[in-house]
Amino acid sequence: MITATKVMELQCSECSKTYDAAFEQHLCICGRPLVVRYDLKRAAATLTLENLSKRVRTLWRYREVLPPGDPVTLGEGMTPLVHAARLGASMRLQRLYVKDEGLNPTGSFKARGMTAAVTRAKQLGAKALAAPTAGNAGGALAAYAAAAGIPAVIVMPADTPASNVMECQAFGAKVVKLNGLISDCGKYVAERKDREGWYDVSTLKEPYRVEGKKTMGYELWEEFGGKLPDVILYPTGGGVGLIGMCKAFDEMQEMGWIGAARPRMVAVQAEGCAPIVKAWEAHRDAAEFFPNAATIASGLRVPGPLGDLMMLRMLRQTKGTALTVRDAEMLQAGRELASLEGIFAAPEGAATVIGARKLVASGWIKPEETVVLFNTGTGYKYAEAWQRALQA
Ligand SMILES: *Cc1c(COP(=O)(O)O)cnc(C)c1O
Ligand SMILES: [Zn+2]
Repeated sequence: MITATKVMELQCSECSKTYDAAFEQHLCICGRPLVVRYDLKRAAATLTLENLSKRVRTLWRYREVLPPGDPVTLGEGMTPLVHAARLGASMRLQRLYVKDEGLNPTGSFKARGMTAAVTRAKQLGAKALAAPTAGNAGGALAAYAAAAGIPAVIVMPADTPASNVMECQAFGAKVVKLNGLISDCGKYVAERKDREGWYDVSTLKEPYRVEGKKTMGYELWEEFGGKLPDVILYPTGGGVGLIGMCKAFDEMQEMGWIGAARPRMVAVQAEGCAPIVKAWEAHRDAAEFFPNAATIASGLRVPGPLGDLMMLRMLRQTKGTALTVRDAEMLQAGRELASLEGIFAAPEGAATVIGARKLVASGWIKPEETVVLFNTGTGYKYAEAWQRALQA
């Protein structure tokens, strides 16, 4: 049994101040997220394609670059990478792939973040876990908290899809519904966590959800046989997936697996909530709070993401871009993805189909390029949205 590589330290994503990873840490004193640094030299010695071929088929196969602790796992990760030949042909792409994250426990890639965060929280002795959610993060936290035997408090907007509420209740979590957005739910947790003794698992307010989500980048590398695609389209809300994958690519370069070239990262947002796209188009380094956020893609309804500086920097560094998709387009693309490829996607995932088509049309994506769309969640949890679309 190989023991996990030690986390060396936590480092601020903006001011570079470092913190001891042996203790519970949340944000930097400057208010920005902390990122995990490992001994990558040591990790590279055992984390090889050959060794990986013999390992457990969950994301814990990358344990050298994951937080230490006895994993709280439900079999997350190693999702299918589907060659979407028919959908690809409809937009003149021969190498179009869909990474289907809907097959994770609780039906979304939020499971990746939560397996890592809850594993670490448990090891640090957390007594209760709390998080705001726009939808799928709540269900994932509730499930992993149940698996860890730790109580969970989930705070969500009152109009969150019904299946997200029901799953949290079934997993035994305490559900608080607020008339507001995820940003209001985040404030609710922040105001009460010290008094109530909650460990705050909010997006980027603890360092380990990014670690779980970055494994999407490691999986792509493994699935493409030690290579990476040219373009990755990712439906962006809080930005943990985008930030995580870019962190994974930096780690891979440091381990000598890849060079300086990167897949061009594309942040796809909903027209009704697009703080990153707005900042990107205005060539700004930071995003502004997006007023009156509204979209059926509940995972994208994040008006004031804490990781805005990191996301915008990563889009620039990878020569990526950012664009919006309308709700009606997502629903239309969802039917296309389902009927052409057999994948019933969340509207967030379907949005990437539209994103790819627009970028092929504008010439930003070339027909010979390898393109990966992230379907971040299953369509089965969005009954209300699909009912409207399919009856129309
Ligand atoms: C949370 C969520 C997103 C956004 O993910 P981030 O990594 O926070 O940007 C996208 N799609 C679905 C289905 C989600 O649940
Ligand atoms: Zn700082």
